[in-house]
Amino acid sequence: LQQVAEVNPSIAASVVKELEDQRSNLKLIASENFTSTNTQAAMGNLLTDKYAEGFAGARYYAGCDNIDDIESEACRLACELFEAEHAYVQPHSGADANMIAFWAILQAKVGVPTLEELGEPNPAKLSREDWNKVRAAMGNQRLLGLDYYSGGHLTHGYRFNVSAQTFDAYSYSVDPETGLLDYDALEKQAEEVKPLILLAGYSAYPRKMNFRRMKEIADKVGAVLMVDMAHFAGLVAGGVFEGDYNPMPFADVVTSTTHKTLRGPRGGIVLCKKEFAEFVDKGCPLVIGGPLPHVMAAKAIAFQEALKPEFKAYAAKVVENTSALAAAMIEEGLTIATGGSDNHLLLINVTSFGLNGRQAEAAVREAGVTLNRNSLPFDPNGPHYTSGLRVGAPAVTSLGMGVEQMKEIASIFKLILSNTKPATIQKGKNAGKPSKVKFELADEVKAEAKSR
Ligand code: PLP
Repeated sequence: LQQVAEVNPSIAASVVKELEDQRSNLKLIASENFTSTNTQAAMGNLLTDKYAEGFAGARYYAGCDNIDDIESEACRLACELFEAEHAYVQPHSGADANMIAFWAILQAKVGVPTLEELGEPNPAKLSREDWNKVRAAMGNQRLLGLDYYSGGHLTHGYRFNVSAQTFDAYSYSVDPETGLLDYDALEKQAEEVKPLILLAGYSAYPRKMNFRRMKEIADKVGAVLMVDMAHFAGLVAGGVFEGDYNPMPFADVVTSTTHKTLRGPRGGIVLCKKEFAEFVDKGCPLVIGGPLPHVMAAKAIAFQEALKPEFKAYAAKVVENTSALAAAMIEEGLTIATGGSDNHLLLINVTSFGLNGRQAEAAVREAGVTLNRNSLPFDPNGPHYTSGLRVGAPAVTSLGMGVEQMKEIASIFKLILSNTKPATIQKGKNAGKPSKVKFELADEVKAEAKSR
């Protein structure tokens, strides 16, 4: 860092301040974690200097022998960890991984006309008409993914995401009464929609999913089952999500991030059945450009760490802690969506405190807790203000916290939220009404929460 400071002191100072921030605030963002220094060391080095377009053994650049070894080892470890038939470790992020998976499925199942079929071996010479044939063959296929408000990710067909431009996108929701997935209702909907891809997985659903049931539904309607396990990959790797709750035996294609419960570097992976391998391996040039060799090295280190017995214990502890946190919050009088959690995250409905998610997020942050606001199913407050907070235990579990600390955290939430009030609007036509953004929280309460 000394060297960084010599070049640009402000960047070095920000790194130090970020360290202080992460050390002094309680990290409860469900999608974050703390990587090991081994993983960080594998990433922060000269490997970043190498271009390696293509994939191991089939590059567009010379001198890729060492990167071939790194990528192959990362793929081997990913296959071992998840018992996958095939792994692709280049995606720079979960969103990239999903784009690659979508297009691999489109190519495998719908098929892009080959250059031979188009009668023109040189892609540079394809006419506009030829490209329109390609587009027509691929376009307008149906995707059925979990609704954003029910906990699905933006890349699962959210209106403003490219997934909804690529596909004729449909979504399924949780049951409005229970907040839980209703597999029978989904089956009915899938029969009507007949999607090319049934997409399971989530960013903000506090329960496990039954992938055996999902596969039955996909098979019934002739869909490919794709699972985005970005959030819970660590729970799969650690053996906590097993049997019907492990997507690997059931899904045709599985995508993930590597930086959430899996505790690796920021990045993505695609795991798939052999049928999709040749298309997935062409993620570059299909979606991405040059891979990040330093991040692939760090992924390999993280996979190796996740293969250790300690990681199994960690994954089990994440679920135990989250469930204990939900129970303790309920005990404190907080409203928890679905009445609990059986994965690594839970959702608090903060409207009983007269707050929206935006105010609650800012209030807990001022009191030393970092998390994110989140829409609840059918949220009347919309995605900007929201009615909920998403809380996750992966990072605090990495710090070694247990059930006793979860009880303490629940009581800190009660302390903060019950002492936070929306501020009153002072001026204008809404004067006298409660603000949707500003709030009041006494300094003594913030200090007490921080001290605990
Ligand atoms: N898929 C799911 C389910 C996610 O929750 C996320 C990120 O939060 C992503 C994909 C996208 O990952 P990234 O932010 O690495 O693009």
